[in-house]
Amino acid sequence: MNTIQIKDKTFAVSIREEDILREVSRVADEINRDLAGKKPIFLSVLNGSFMFTADLMKRITIPCEISFVKLASYQGVTSTGVIKEVIGLNEDISGRTVVVVEDIVDTGLTMQRLLETLGTRGPSEIHIATLLVKPDKLKVDLNIEYAAMRIPNDFIVGYGLDYDGMGRNYKDIYTVINEE
Ligand code: 5GP
Repeated sequence: MNTIQIKDKTFAVSIREEDILREVSRVADEINRDLAGKKPIFLSVLNGSFMFTADLMKRITIPCEISFVKLASYQGVTSTGVIKEVIGLNEDISGRTVVVVEDIVDTGLTMQRLLETLGTRGPSEIHIATLLVKPDKLKVDLNIEYAAMRIPNDFIVGYGLDYDGMGRNYKDIYTVINEE
């Protein structure tokens, strides 16, 4: 499938599954190397990172824990950067090495707010692992150590990411081609 239609928008395939998985494996290798002996806790940010999280965690070979949090911050195709709530963080992360697992860092405001929230709970270190970064849109200074891929500013769906709730199921990543 080279193009897909979701509601009013058409998307063309832009990153194939095999290319995604190669970069996810590279990130996993880096984390296995850098965080060996630290027994990190991975915090996967739902919903968008569910597919990335699954593929990443299958390749993490060091002892670790995984948990899931949820944020409400994004409606339609424009990012507000406003986190309404962080739901589901029941683990004690004080003194722990935390790895936040995100789908995409766009302006970076969501990640910045999340790091602030997590920081109040006393982790010893926090690392960022994200599937995608849009470097030209970054508005805040973030130390993104683990990024699978860098992409242009266009809106994308697939591999966990949605447009208005749809499109998360596709195994490849698609870029909008008829944005008004
Ligand atoms: P930020 O706060 O960094 O501007 O936005 C981050 C959030 O915006 C991501 O977690 C994701 O939910 C959403 N987002 C940003 N760009 C895209 C995109 O191209 N496609 C989709 N589906 N979501 C995006």
